[in-house]
Amino acid sequence: MTRYIYEFGPRSTDGDASMKNLLGGKGANLAEMARLGLPVPPGFTISTECCNDYFERGGCFPDPLESEVMTALARIEAQMGMRFGDPEAPLLVSCRSGARSSMPGMMETILNVGLCSKTIPGLAARTGNEWFVYDAYRRLIMMYSDVVMEKAEQVVPEDGMGIRLNLEMMMNNLKNDKGYEHDTDISVQDMRALCDRFKKKISEYLNKEFPDDPREQLMGAIGAVFKSWNGKRAVSYRRIEHIPDAWGTAVNVQAMVFGNMGNTSATGVAFTRDPATGKNHFFGEWLVNAQGEDVVAGIRTPNPLNKETKNMQNRHLPSLEEAMPELYAQLYDIRNKLESHYRDMQDIEFTIQEGTLYMLQCRVGKRTATAALNMAMDMFEEGLIDETTMICRLNPKSLDEMLHPIVDPVEEKIAVQVAEGLPAGPGGAWGKIVFTAEDAVQMAKTGENVILVREETNPEDIEGMRAAAAILTARGGMTSHAALVARGWGKCCIVGAGAMKIHARNRQLQVGTRTFKQGDILTLNGTRGIVYEGRLKMKDALENPKFQKFMEIADRHRTMGVRTNADTPEDAATALKFGAQGIGLFRTEHMFYGADSDRPLFLLRKMILSKSTEERQTALDELFPFVKQEIKNTLAVMDNLPVTLRLLDPPLHEFVPQTEATQGEIAKALGIDLEEVIKRSQMLKESNPMIGHRGVRLGITFPEVTRMQVMAIFSAAAELIGDGKHPRPEIMVPVTCNEKELSFTKKIVDVCYRDVLETHNLERIPYLFGTMIEIPRAALIADKMAEDAQFFSFGTNDLTQMTFGFSRDDIGSFMNDYIDHAILDSDPFETLDQEAVGSLIEIAVERGRQTRPDIKLGICGEHGGDPDSVAFCHRAGLTYVSCSPYRVPIARLAAAQAAIQENG
Ligand code: ADP
Ligand code: MG
Ligand code: MG
Repeated sequence: MTRYIYEFGPRSTDGDASMKNLLGGKGANLAEMARLGLPVPPGFTISTECCNDYFERGGCFPDPLESEVMTALARIEAQMGMRFGDPEAPLLVSCRSGARSSMPGMMETILNVGLCSKTIPGLAARTGNEWFVYDAYRRLIMMYSDVVMEKAEQVVPEDGMGIRLNLEMMMNNLKNDKGYEHDTDISVQDMRALCDRFKKKISEYLNKEFPDDPREQLMGAIGAVFKSWNGKRAVSYRRIEHIPDAWGTAVNVQAMVFGNMGNTSATGVAFTRDPATGKNHFFGEWLVNAQGEDVVAGIRTPNPLNKETKNMQNRHLPSLEEAMPELYAQLYDIRNKLESHYRDMQDIEFTIQEGTLYMLQCRVGKRTATAALNMAMDMFEEGLIDETTMICRLNPKSLDEMLHPIVDPVEEKIAVQVAEGLPAGPGGAWGKIVFTAEDAVQMAKTGENVILVREETNPEDIEGMRAAAAILTARGGMTSHAALVARGWGKCCIVGAGAMKIHARNRQLQVGTRTFKQGDILTLNGTRGIVYEGRLKMKDALENPKFQKFMEIADRHRTMGVRTNADTPEDAATALKFGAQGIGLFRTEHMFYGADSDRPLFLLRKMILSKSTEERQTALDELFPFVKQEIKNTLAVMDNLPVTLRLLDPPLHEFVPQTEATQGEIAKALGIDLEEVIKRSQMLKESNPMIGHRGVRLGITFPEVTRMQVMAIFSAAAELIGDGKHPRPEIMVPVTCNEKELSFTKKIVDVCYRDVLETHNLERIPYLFGTMIEIPRAALIADKMAEDAQFFSFGTNDLTQMTFGFSRDDIGSFMNDYIDHAILDSDPFETLDQEAVGSLIEIAVERGRQTRPDIKLGICGEHGGDPDSVAFCHRAGLTYVSCSPYRVPIARLAAAQAAIQENG
């Protein structure tokens, strides 16, 4: 029989930190903390397997569950000396969700389960604190009605607000009417009356009574936590984070401890090191006389944990270090224990009940990329972790954030400051302000840079937060929802900019006498927490010596090369700075787009529209010096390093002249009339240009086109050799599917090679001849392709397109549906499809090596900069990956980590 329940607590603990898949992260770590002897209130975890069984049975508990829950509960009762539902000594529990990996705020937790008319008087008598009991009760009512009675039942509120907001409004009205500033000011009588009115409201609003039976409350809560796994927010979060639906959530049922029992009680959240900077100091926030969520929800400005945590928003408030020094010392001790045990920064939740400290959660803390870098290097120096662990601590994807722009300090000096808040997510960003998540999503879709401005964020804002370039809130501390989420994503974010008054309804933001409307532009410096008017310039954050050193160490572990895709000398130079070891893809077409492209483009058009070989040859002769010069410039920058030059692969229809003026010019140049130009242009139209007359096929029809390019490559190299340089060109033939295409092309190359050697009086020019593998057929006959090809470069963009039969240019209309329906886990153009495209690569590698054991193998699609794909390339035995210049560091780190992982 499947075991569903695992206990944890001071007396006996079944699980441990390694059991995250079964117990969820929260449950596994609660068990681990209990094992370490830390003060964890006793409880038990219902496994993720049970969650899956629950869904399999169409939302019914597996048969033995309820009785097993009651048995486990009895063991908590015995330890606590209290009984669930007992009128004199009632035990209350929390019912907490917890998936394998943390999904902050995505799923549900219900506190104070077990309070009812039978248990309230007993708890009040026992604690002598009636206020506390009713505060706990009203929280239970609010959470329970929202999570269990409304969301889990999929009730769609008619007023669009939902029960929770209705109840919150009732509470706010009460506070306003009676002039209560904080929740804690509400009198016992009022709190009690409020609970009654809450229940009445629920009965009217949801047509159901709030359950007064503890056991019904508990089983209802457990089911609702399971259901929250399939709630709208949780599902959309999983899509963004690529978390499989099949993981399920665990449920933790745990004896309640109370931070809201008066002034010797408190609750808090802390990080064992600073999650924004990585500094080695204890960092956190707490509130006196409060329960669980209060700190995170930004209900009151939380107090700083200690000196190090004081900032402009909270420095007037007492720290835990000052207010409760003994408890702080105890917590500090736990902090050290946790760090040396987990050897990583932990994010913890604690509660103090009348002077006794309890630990309620720990997990590896989210951090900014900069913090991750600093912590990893510090912990290595402290001897806490070894070198390979250090290298694996930095998520390659997060480098993006570190290499990404900061506000230009020169412009910042003279910029107009609008407001100041807490620096919750680093880096800089500018954008048009919007006030709702929906607007953020809408505007971002049209390509706008937006900043999402909110009073505070909540999990419902998640998609808007994702779409925004930055997030700005008026309320909340460093551990607020906005801060946690932004840090997780490495997004620029400022929270708690209290001077801002936000009128979301009329889409306005007011600071002092100034008003900003939707669409106005602001710039955020998320590293300092300052908001500026208008758009400021951004700057690269590359020159970080610590980062350079880290990458140097990582490079020592890497076995695969990293090159770049670059079409210009400028890109090539940038990539060198980022550590590229050559070019994996140089596209000649580029010279027909960007700056100074008028003349070459004109000549290319002339060539394309030529009818006879003579006409074409004239155009090619004129084009030759341009092509040669472009290639020479880039080869010069990449001196001594390999440069893969792809032969022309132009989508012809894109280059055909469209306007009458350009058509006229060509007509004149070719000595034909306008009609004829238009006619020839029309003949070039193809129904499927993507699989039309392109790549090697062009050179089969017009060998002189290949000849011109190869001559340009060898001549450029020869001239550079003459200048004492060491060019290493690699000629790459695109869009091949047949070995004879290669032998055909190779003959042209051989003739050109001898020609250039003779002209320049050289003995040899080092070069390689090879092909892209981007058509499945080519992969399957790689053994034949390798007869002439000295290297393969996997063009995984086209290889993906042709393997899936998905047009790269048209996936926009259906890819989201594929992701939403979980038909695909991710967009195969972003993350390499290892199953099929990967198989083709593996087959090509194996067959290619049969013919040519020392064949060089690379990848030049977008995937070359995606960490998972890089790891795959390492495993597949590729020689190098190639990616855009800014992704070079990401690929370097991902390749180092792949090598480390391979060695165990
Ligand atoms: P989340 O995953 O959203 O953080 P949690 O399950 O951690 O949800 O619970 C929400 C809040 O309630 C946290 O602040 C937590 O510390 C608090 N909490 C949960 N269980 C208990 C308990 N048994 N006693 C006191 N506080 C609790
Ligand atoms: Mg929560
Ligand atoms: Mg928590």
